[in-house]
Amino acid sequence: MTDKDYDVIVVGAGNAALVSALTAHEAGARVLVLEAAPKKERGGNSRFAGAIFRFVHDGPTSIEPLLTAEARAWLDRVEVEPYTAERYYQDAQSTSGGRAHPGLLRLLVEKSHETVAWMRDRGVKWELAVGKLVDPDNIDPGEAYVLPAGGAVRVVNEGVGLMADLFDAVERAGIEVRYDSPAHELILEGSRVTGVRVRTEDGFVDVHGAVVLASGGFEANPEMRLRYLGAGWDLVKVRGSRFNMGTMLTQALNAGAQPAGHWGGCHASPLDADAPDVGDLRLTDKMSRYSYPYGLLVNVEGRRFVDEGEDEVWLTYAKTGGAIREQPQALAFQIFDQKMVHLLEPRYSTGTPVEADTIADLGNKLAIAARELERTVADFNAATTGGAFDPFSKDGRRAEPEGQPAKSNWAVPLESPPYVCYRVTCGITFTFGGLKIDEQARVIDTTGKPMRGLYATGELAGDFFYHNYPAGAGLVRGAVFGRIAGAEAAKLAAVAGRPCLPPSGP
Ligand SMILES: Cc1cc2nc3c(=O)[nH]c(=O)nc-3n(C[C@H](O)[C@H](O)[C@H](O)COP(=O)(O)OP(=O)(O)OC[C@H]3O[C@@H](n4cnc5c(N)ncnc54)[C@H](O)[C@@H]3O)c2cc1C
Repeated sequence: MTDKDYDVIVVGAGNAALVSALTAHEAGARVLVLEAAPKKERGGNSRFAGAIFRFVHDGPTSIEPLLTAEARAWLDRVEVEPYTAERYYQDAQSTSGGRAHPGLLRLLVEKSHETVAWMRDRGVKWELAVGKLVDPDNIDPGEAYVLPAGGAVRVVNEGVGLMADLFDAVERAGIEVRYDSPAHELILEGSRVTGVRVRTEDGFVDVHGAVVLASGGFEANPEMRLRYLGAGWDLVKVRGSRFNMGTMLTQALNAGAQPAGHWGGCHASPLDADAPDVGDLRLTDKMSRYSYPYGLLVNVEGRRFVDEGEDEVWLTYAKTGGAIREQPQALAFQIFDQKMVHLLEPRYSTGTPVEADTIADLGNKLAIAARELERTVADFNAATTGGAFDPFSKDGRRAEPEGQPAKSNWAVPLESPPYVCYRVTCGITFTFGGLKIDEQARVIDTTGKPMRGLYATGELAGDFFYHNYPAGAGLVRGAVFGRIAGAEAAKLAAVAGRPCLPPSGP
């Protein structure tokens, strides 16, 4: 069965896809959005997100015009340093071990601010990320409340608000979105992509046009996780959408697209051990547990296994899930004392802590190696040194206990009972391996040539993140390259004339 023709077919209906669809529509293209999920579960991983956007800015003066009137009131009460393009580039490269594609990363960084402004102009509402990491009510009025420069701004009502605002814009524009419509494969004429075959209950429907793939990674697919990420990854909890199965990633590779990036790597973070196995839209990201820099992280053997204070949490959390997965039972315990509990993220309220007056009692209650835990904490406490504790910046309070990882910052003795402990496991967020794209978001084939008629953006594009990740770069990556993909696909359609079937030849 063949459906009517479009100029641009966007596969997926998350952040990357809808930004792409809006851009193509504004360029005059007739756009169809295909979404595998039913309408009530629409929005992909983007809807689960905390919706922090990492972008270049000059501090409060350049952030202010982006914010809603209500959100501007907070500017007098917080401190935010400027976030330069160079620092963004360095943060992204250092978390990726220097492997991120320099050209793609530069483009992401350079277009980050204008993309956030572009989204504001289409109805996305922005606010400061106050209360995400630390509850401002728990900080003395005389003390500064500092937001991380790269993670200072988020969408009002987080991922739920982001997707509601984007769907509103898509609906206002009259763009057709088909739900329950999983793309099944690409339609090819030689190495040209001319459309998408969609799986329906009754058969297949073919839709024609230039194709933008924005259908996410393979994080929800245990078979692919095992195949690419390795043993044990098939068993981890999934923080977000159940629909990102990697189908069109696989189909694009089968059609000759080139794989790129860290196929054995992913974003995975500490998640409450009682979180559901797959993301629940009633909880979104509220089961994440990122306050470990203020405490100790131990395994069932009572041993520490990471430097909890290696860097600001937004530069370590995305690899800490993987470190937890490597521990026995993929389980770990975040332990805090009374000096620190006021600094726990407000979302810890969704968890059930275990409390005890002594470390030995805590170990027994947790049914972990209590003696070893006592030794770990005693050795750690003995190795702490003085200095001022600063919850908002790396304070250089370092401990180097023998036989344990160092703690580079926030190393304060764990000594004020009752002790409070949260059980955590590894939650996968998204996969890093994807399709090779160029700076026009064109998918590159295995011979190094662009595949005519095929573009990609979002999680499905590779070569951005390796090993680790700076918070807030995922949504920006999808939006920056979503705009590029949408514009380029519309341009191709315009060259071809309507109805669009991408012409052959350059
Ligand atoms: C709990 C959580 C918190 C996060 N917080 C942040 C944050 O604060 N900041 C940040 O930058 N990032 C954050 N992320 C990561 C970020 O959400 C994702 O990287 C980003 O949303 C990916 O966007 P996308 O458009 O590429 O994919 P998605 O939003 O996942 O969209 C992909 C869409 O494709 C659909 N789809 C899949 N297969 C098919 C198919 N065959 N046919 C049709 N449709 C298909 C899916 O149903 C989905 O709707 C978070 C993620 C999670 C899970």
